[in-house]
Amino acid sequence: MALIVQKYGGTSVGSIARIRAVASQVAALRAQGHGVAVVVSAMGDSTDRLLDLARGLTPDPPARELDALLATGEMVSTALLATALATIGCPARSYNALQLPLETTGLHGRARITGIEAGTLEADLASGIVPVVAGFQGRAPDGSITTIGRGGSDTTAVALAVALSADECQILTDVDGVFTTDPRVVPDARRLDRISFEEMLELAGQGSRVLHLRCVEFAARYGVKLRVLSSFRPGPGTLICEEDPAVEAPVVSGIAFNRDEAQITASGLPDKPGTAHGILQPLANAGIEVDMIVAGAPREGSVDMSFTVHRDDFARALAMVRATVARFAGVEVRGDDRVAKLAIVGSGMRSQPGVAARLFETLGREGVNVRLVSTSEIKVAVLVDEPALEPAVRALHSAFGLAGTG
Ligand code: ADP
Ligand code: ASP
Ligand code: MG
Repeated sequence: MALIVQKYGGTSVGSIARIRAVASQVAALRAQGHGVAVVVSAMGDSTDRLLDLARGLTPDPPARELDALLATGEMVSTALLATALATIGCPARSYNALQLPLETTGLHGRARITGIEAGTLEADLASGIVPVVAGFQGRAPDGSITTIGRGGSDTTAVALAVALSADECQILTDVDGVFTTDPRVVPDARRLDRISFEEMLELAGQGSRVLHLRCVEFAARYGVKLRVLSSFRPGPGTLICEEDPAVEAPVVSGIAFNRDEAQITASGLPDKPGTAHGILQPLANAGIEVDMIVAGAPREGSVDMSFTVHRDDFARALAMVRATVARFAGVEVRGDDRVAKLAIVGSGMRSQPGVAARLFETLGREGVNVRLVSTSEIKVAVLVDEPALEPAVRALHSAFGLAGTG
């Protein structure tokens, strides 16, 4: 019989009724003879509500205390799920990260998992007990509680599957699997039976929040069998796996998008080596991630540079760039946080010319202005005005033939 790690997301454990439903699914899997370890997220939007509480005190809560606060959300759902399992005769035990322990680096809010002590969990599984582990949290080297980034419980689940050498890691959520794009925005989006790790990495990296990026990285690196399923109704879900060499890869498999972008443009910079470094290094020092970058020289001797940052970092980044360029005469700095990014992803793009041309043709026909472009071998990403995002995604979804009956 198999050892399965199941992860249930916030909506899936969003109420007592949902926790009861999850408990009976877990108990049914165990009754079939499988070993089951469960990872849970905080109930519903409780992580957001905890964040609001802290921000009611200060706009910039101390990172250590914010993590201590946010981690409580997952502790509530582990204890409730273990209780619900016990009440239906399925022995279960809840664990937080300090109890295991699940070790991480010390970077609060963005810690990385460095190890999981699996002995207690293995002993539970051997005696038929279902361990219920808090997602999203860890223990820093100094013993404090960390969190590993929003949406991080998916990553906890894959890390646990690796530590336990599980046969499969199942991510149970509020949609039936991975779709060609977010089915809440494009109602005729199609569920994919399978998708390659490589494509899923690009989709997650470009903003498809159905899977946390690091969860996909982890699963690809350790060859974890990863499946996305609905916790609301039975179905085959989506298997994330190595590409099947016998099947020709689709040119475009999916479209990802995100609204967390902001654009900063500095024009009239001196066209000299080191200019880009001078602008970007202070941002890097402040831990601000820069995403799309484009530079061009519209006039002899001067260069324009444009890039995107996360919307939460926009005000800080804009102020830093303005401070950096203050020493140059005639440089203009502009910022816009009403922008969004979308990306078409598909491994068949490698061998198929004309994909970018079709994307621009479609956007042009829709009257969508493209502000920035970035590409990889299997992706074309563009930055657009935020109001144009959803019409652009719908138009591209149909232009690339992604809608369907599948
Ligand atoms: P959970 O709380 O279970 O972790 P999330 O809200 O993090 O759930 O992720 C599931 C959501 O991801 C879906 O409700 C859907 O709106 C969104 N989503 C975005 N892109 C996709 C996609 N390509 N396929 C499926 N869902 C997607
Ligand atoms: N509860 C955390 C969040 O809302 C982690 C997760 O749900 O995966 O981001
Ligand atoms: Mg999630």
